[in-house]
Amino acid sequence: MSTQLKDALETLKESGVRITPQRHAILEYLIQTMTHPTADDIYKALEGKFPNMSVATVYNNLRVFREAGLVKELTYGDASSRFDFVTTHHYHVICEECGKIVDFHYPGLNEVEDLASHVTGFKISHHRMETYGTCPDCVKSTKH
Ligand SMILES: [Zn+2]
Ligand SMILES: [Zn+2]
Repeated sequence: MSTQLKDALETLKESGVRITPQRHAILEYLIQTMTHPTADDIYKALEGKFPNMSVATVYNNLRVFREAGLVKELTYGDASSRFDFVTTHHYHVICEECGKIVDFHYPGLNEVEDLASHVTGFKISHHRMETYGTCPDCVKSTKH
């Protein structure tokens, strides 16, 4: 079992959340996959293992994880939410062709929060920055 999974299960226990086999599997999947899956993607990946599970169950579990601070929900207008296991703070680059989301790390945009707070008097909770473009796979496929 990975340290991340162990820590995540520990966090759930501490917040009084019961750890069911489904929750365990969803967390494990989120930690392993780097693709920022939708609830539907997770459902499709795990339905073989849990035939009685529905997309709604997956979604409810994701909400429990979000409330425990383990998972971030990324919403994009009308498209369905994507879910991201919370590790360190990171940014996203999103492919405009296929919708793939890839993580990257970039230090020090905290000044933006300080400045926003200074200029507006808001107490800043977080910021969100996303970069857009075409992923290497899509660049390749449009070339021929
Ligand atoms: Zn792409
Ligand atoms: Zn991410």
